[in-house]
Amino acid sequence: MMSVPVVETRGLIKRYGDQLAVAGVDLLVGPGEIFGLVGPNGAGKTTTMKILATLLAPTSGEAYVTGIPVDADPIEVRRRIGYMPDFYGVYDDLRVWEYLDFFGRCYGVPSNRRAPMIGELLEIVGLGDRRDAYVESLSRGMRQRLCLAHTLVHDPALLILDEPASGLDPRARVEMREILRELRSMGKTILVSSHILPELAELCTGVAIIDHGRVLRSGSITDIERSLRANALLRIELIANEAAIAAASDWLATDPRVGDVLRHDGGSGDTARLEVPFDGSADAQAELLRSMIDAGHRVVGFSQATSDLEEIFLRVTGQSDEENAA
Ligand code: ATP
Repeated sequence: MMSVPVVETRGLIKRYGDQLAVAGVDLLVGPGEIFGLVGPNGAGKTTTMKILATLLAPTSGEAYVTGIPVDADPIEVRRRIGYMPDFYGVYDDLRVWEYLDFFGRCYGVPSNRRAPMIGELLEIVGLGDRRDAYVESLSRGMRQRLCLAHTLVHDPALLILDEPASGLDPRARVEMREILRELRSMGKTILVSSHILPELAELCTGVAIIDHGRVLRSGSITDIERSLRANALLRIELIANEAAIAAASDWLATDPRVGDVLRHDGGSGDTARLEVPFDGSADAQAELLRSMIDAGHRVVGFSQATSDLEEIFLRVTGQSDEENAA
């Protein structure tokens, strides 16, 4: 039997007045996953997460956490989630342990459980030696980790983390990733957002790339890469001579496997680069190169653009911008 998904949304829609912030999002996250929501600013990540955290009602569609509908039973959902918002206030004049103790009380953690729990949580987030420090004395990275500890006080099954690494320096980002991995190994399911795909790539079991409130691609990064690779992007470098470049572009455009050829800024002073979408196998690429040279085009470089993650992200979200403009 399939286990109950920890997160499931179907046709989730949220409007703010005329603004369609979430435009029919379907998500499915299984137990023990670290699932990434990745998209540019304004994509609808925060809105989706707030709906799952029971802080916003959807305009329409369904959302479930561990099978419980978020709108019908928000109290039960809140017991099962730890939510870290993208912006949060800190409580001045509180020591680190008092901060966690306060939230432990809010969640009804019994007093004899709270002290050991605080010790355990501070160890997990690497703040064991800051137990008695004032919250306002912590660095940004430490505050983010304290906020993460706060999401854990009631031992929830699901963590909903809205850009937990934003504003952190590279080392603090790595530390945050390590902590998330550890939490996963403890059995937590994690839904995490970011606007940087490479940041989530090595961490996540699956991602949904969203833009303009829609899921453009979802699955493992490998699957997404594979689905994009059907249409390889070739980079062809030629001796820079305007007439020769125009001739090469025209020649390429006659091949039905070639998409819209673009002139790229890359290339040295002596050479210019064309970007050529190509629907064909490696054999077909080799054939294209041979016939290009046979036709007299002065090719100095011919390669397939590697699926750099940032490039995947730009391609996927760029396609959506074109569709929206159309
Ligand atoms: P970011 O990375 O910038 O946080 P996001 O992907 O989290 O972006 P959302 O904050 O969910 O995106 O915003 C989605 C869209 O909804 C944006 O166009 C935003 O301007 C709009 N929006 C968000 N909150 C409100 C609100 N309270 N009232 C009106 N529009 C809103």
